Amino acid sequence: EKDKLFGQPESLNSFENTTILAIGSGKGGVGKSTVTANLAVTLSHMGYKVGLIDADILGYSIPQILGIKQERATAIDERIIIPVEVEGVKVMSMGNLVGEDEALVWRGPVLSGILNQFLTEVYWGELDYLLLDLPPGTGDIPLSIMQEVKEAKFLIVTTPQITAKGVAKRLGIMANKTNTEIVGVIENMSYFICDNCDEKHYIFGSGEGENLSKELGVDFLGEIPLLKEIRVGSDKGVILTSDLNSDIGKIYKQIGEKIV
Ligand code: ADP
Repeated sequence: EKDKLFGQPESLNSFENTTILAIGSGKGGVGKSTVTANLAVTLSHMGYKVGLIDADILGYSIPQILGIKQERATAIDERIIIPVEVEGVKVMSMGNLVGEDEALVWRGPVLSGILNQFLTEVYWGELDYLLLDLPPGTGDIPLSIMQEVKEAKFLIVTTPQITAKGVAKRLGIMANKTNTEIVGVIENMSYFICDNCDEKHYIFGSGEGENLSKELGVDFLGEIPLLKEIRVGSDKGVILTSDLNSDIGKIYKQIGEKIV
């Protein structure tokens, strides 16, 4: 096994048969990490081999959402990193390497270096999908992925708010400028269903996710409701998409089917 690994001098992975999906948003707090984590679990339960890189190196939250804060990635010969695995998803996050309360103070080039290590020095094995949870906005990391990871396609997460859509569009424009394919737009926190009626309440407005997809000329992949159980789930590390027949599981499965 090791010989095979060392047989590839520059990187442990070729990603030849892997679809790399980088998931970005215009700004923070729109639920990008929650959506990315649940999408990874969904694709895994749909039968695909899935990896997930928490490319929000400083602001990592994937371990918390997936309930693997205490898990540590291991290393073979201090060089080959073995990712943590949950629900069949192989996960690599700074949060699985450092202590919880450690403040990370690194500049752009160091961050790109770490991301590069996650791509080349982590042994991913065969993957159908590799999801990258990007830091919000159009900073160094999304730009270097667009420029340097040629195979990467982008997914944009936004809320129905006009302000969120406006900043998300800039990510789309950046993708167009770098000839990066955008797979589509997912709208999160689209509507709220209260306990007393079955009506959908469009608290943050409606239709902006779909408008964004039209303006960028890409697919609209679906609406995810604003639900207390989603917030509680990600705070507690309870994964709501472990069951694709649950209400939330079904919504994610529909999105997953549009992506594959
Ligand atoms: P981002 O990655 O865009 O910064 P997060 O995924 O960290 O956003 O989500 C921000 C907060 O919103 C978290 O507390 C998360 O649990 C919550 N959240 C995300 N999506 C939903 C949703 N659909 N319904 C309820 N809460 C949500």
